[in-house]
Amino acid sequence: MKRIGIAFFYHESHSFTPMITELEQFENEAYLLGKDIIDHYRGTKTEVGGFIDYLTGSKEEIEIVPLLCASAVPSGVVTKETFEKIEKDMIGSIQDNLPLDGLLLALHGAMVVDGLPDPEEKMLENIRETIGNNIPIATTLDLHANISEKMVTYTPMHFGFKTYPHIDMYEQGLAAANAICNCLFENKQYQAAFIRLPMLLPSLNMRTETGPMKKMIDLAKEAENIKGVDNVSIFGGFPYADTASSSASLIVVGTDKKTMGEVAEKLAREYWGLKKEFLVHLPSAKEGLKIALSRRNKKPVVLADISDNPLSCGSGDTTELLRMMLRNKVDQALFGGLYDPESIKRCQEAGEGKTVELELGGKVTPEFGLPIRVEAKVITLSDGVFYNSGPFNQHLKVDLKATAHIVVDKLDIVLIGRPMSANDPEMFRHLGIDPTKKKILALKVKNHFRAAFDPLIEEVIYVDAPGVSTNNLTTLEYKNIIRPIWPLDNAIYLEGE
Ligand SMILES: [Zn+2]
Repeated sequence: MKRIGIAFFYHESHSFTPMITELEQFENEAYLLGKDIIDHYRGTKTEVGGFIDYLTGSKEEIEIVPLLCASAVPSGVVTKETFEKIEKDMIGSIQDNLPLDGLLLALHGAMVVDGLPDPEEKMLENIRETIGNNIPIATTLDLHANISEKMVTYTPMHFGFKTYPHIDMYEQGLAAANAICNCLFENKQYQAAFIRLPMLLPSLNMRTETGPMKKMIDLAKEAENIKGVDNVSIFGGFPYADTASSSASLIVVGTDKKTMGEVAEKLAREYWGLKKEFLVHLPSAKEGLKIALSRRNKKPVVLADISDNPLSCGSGDTTELLRMMLRNKVDQALFGGLYDPESIKRCQEAGEGKTVELELGGKVTPEFGLPIRVEAKVITLSDGVFYNSGPFNQHLKVDLKATAHIVVDKLDIVLIGRPMSANDPEMFRHLGIDPTKKKILALKVKNHFRAAFDPLIEEVIYVDAPGVSTNNLTTLEYKNIIRPIWPLDNAIYLEGE
């Protein structure tokens, strides 16, 4: 009987937002110890769902040992206190469950902690100190992970998502679990070749359906057919985390060190050559709305307010696009979800069918647009709990801590009690709204929503309204990234450029 621990340590942190991430944000998403982890994730298309399914379905004798799961929605820097609590619970849960034969760890890879240079590296270091160097660890990582050299020395077995929208979290969970089992039952010895490139890429044009990241992922998959190469991950990095490891990178996992090194070099050259394709210019909210209003489509047009996308750490309450829509008296349109617990409370006090005066949004980051005073009709109120139906985080329970459907003039607006991207149509359907019946959907999203929405819509117009997650990285004041880095500086990766 082999005892395999499973754990989840997950946050994408934005260094330039005034928001901070505390224990409460983890508790709101998932802060689970022991058996609760299995109950929460079994049957979900997540990394941990993949770990559980693979280990349960294995013909080998395996005992799954659930440890700690700490996951919060992307937001500001994690406080030192919060990290220390997670660290204590993680290491404590491992110590309580020794001996372990292997460990599966789902990481995001872009956490920033106040005063700590690299939290994932630190967590791996702590885990190594606790379990020693001989027990295999395999991680899953987000495509937007920032990877440090040391992370690869603590374990070579890293499995990054190959899709954006991330709809292969489950598959990478399976791959990591498979690798651990290969170590334990076949005595396979994995190694890694890792290359970090001096480039910091905005994530908007990183979709894997089309564009430069598709080219890289296709090359990565092709390389996995080479003897001695098992898995290739391409990381776009997360440019809003200001850390020394923030950059694009890639990892080749396999058993033939020489071949893996050659593959990594070749892919790094290709990646560097594609860098300019990742830069795109976007219309303002006003220009984007004008384009959307000119369209005569059967299906809805999406206005994607990427700079305030909560899954890129936006506060979810900026008001520029909403202001433009109200000013233009846009109808047959839906705006959401706007993070505004105060307004939800007022709606709850008034009740469904009543009219209320509200100050919409603009409370967390007023520097990107002040609250908008409106008279709104309360249509529907809910507890904000639903289950995702689309391919992204499918079947996962989402708890928005209350929602309200209101109408201002003719515009339908959904208020939410916790910042969350509108990545799944259930955010609207659970309130009785059918988003396909609208002409314009103004959503606080970037790319993940396309997994579920693409079949329902005609077109996406990305707009760059003011917000922390702007596509224009030159506006951010970096202090910790390693310079020179492209496109902020004239960085060089290949000789003779
Ligand atoms: Zn990501």
